[in-house]
Amino acid sequence: MDYVTLASHAIRQYAPDQIFTASQRAKADAAALGEDAVINATLGECLDDDGKLMVLPTVERMIRQMPVEDICSYAPIAGIKGFNEAVQISLFGKCLDRFYVESVATPGGCGALRHAIWNFLNFGDALLTTNWIWGPYKNICEEHGRRMVTFDMFNRENTFNLEGMDRAIGEILAVQEQLLMILNTPANNPTGYSMTKQEMEQTVAILKKHAAANPDKNLTFCLDVSYIDFAGSFEESREIFDAIFDMPANTMTLLIFSMSKSYTMCGMRCGALVCLGSTAESAAVFKQAMSYSSRSTWSNAIHMAQKILVDINLNPEIRERVSQERAVFRNTITNRGRTFCAAAKEASLEICPYQYGYFVAIPCKNPVETARILMDQHIYVVPQAQGLRFSPCTVTTEKCRKAPAFIKAAMEQT
Ligand code: PLP
Repeated sequence: MDYVTLASHAIRQYAPDQIFTASQRAKADAAALGEDAVINATLGECLDDDGKLMVLPTVERMIRQMPVEDICSYAPIAGIKGFNEAVQISLFGKCLDRFYVESVATPGGCGALRHAIWNFLNFGDALLTTNWIWGPYKNICEEHGRRMVTFDMFNRENTFNLEGMDRAIGEILAVQEQLLMILNTPANNPTGYSMTKQEMEQTVAILKKHAAANPDKNLTFCLDVSYIDFAGSFEESREIFDAIFDMPANTMTLLIFSMSKSYTMCGMRCGALVCLGSTAESAAVFKQAMSYSSRSTWSNAIHMAQKILVDINLNPEIRERVSQERAVFRNTITNRGRTFCAAAKEASLEICPYQYGYFVAIPCKNPVETARILMDQHIYVVPQAQGLRFSPCTVTTEKCRKAPAFIKAAMEQT
């Protein structure tokens, strides 16, 4: 091997991201055979029925008309003026008065996850999350000297596994000073599951129970709501927030906010880590710590993206227009997802409970082998630890209707 000067922890095998690798192969296939012959259900970007990237028209207009000063100048580390307010309006419809809220701008939800995993766990600690997850959770843990521990997301009734979560929290608190639990809901990636308000109430009650039993430990509850605007009506998708109240002093609630889906701005890399602080002091300490972390990693987040968020959300008329445009996109994606579910039922293909969102998950014993068989039939899905991920967000309704029978047949061959 050639001489390399990497530190030992940085010498890692390069495993190209399998989502992007599969997508590249699918694109080459489509170029050779034509789009109709290929089902590329790998990526998490919304494409219309002609395969064109779906971008909210108002967002596109704002990007094209942005003054150069707002594109090229630095933004303040934590976020531009109005950013915290705009994040809250986007998430809750208004600025919350029952919490002290701070939002620190990050490069996408990914940056917010990084800040949570780095700042709310100690070296070597385990992050707690569900077994169905967005793969990079594990990478972010490993990149930062943390580990990931999971519990089964679903119980026998195919609803959220509260008992398993309760047990896993107890096990972590027995050995760690810090608990960080990240739940990705609504419209979970990869399952499309959305926790009900009752499930969230019970989750909060379980957290409160553990907080009371461990008064000297710190419990952080982090909801990754990156897909919240693709999970039914505004009111329906926000019901879970009502379950979070009267949080004990040794807890903190965080939200992962992302502009990638809600504003169709994946490539503009903007999001926020948001804290719902019980006191002004806790929110101020959060802002200080996250600002330090930002300064020491990426410095500041993209100015133009923050400006777009502020310009949309602080102007009720523009906000309303964007939410109407988004509703069209949301309906398209949900219809495709539900078409896939109906076809899966017809094909007797078992899938995880899907309500909304970009992805459907198919439990499967040999995900890699099944994905390989499907690839030979020009159907591209993402193999994960527990099964396959199919992306209705990126293929036509017709392809969503066709795919389940092929997936079922491929599974039977392994
Ligand atoms: N969280 C989940 C569950 C995701 O699926 C993604 C992206 O796909 C993110 C967070 C981060 O997205 P971004 O960094 O593009 O905002």
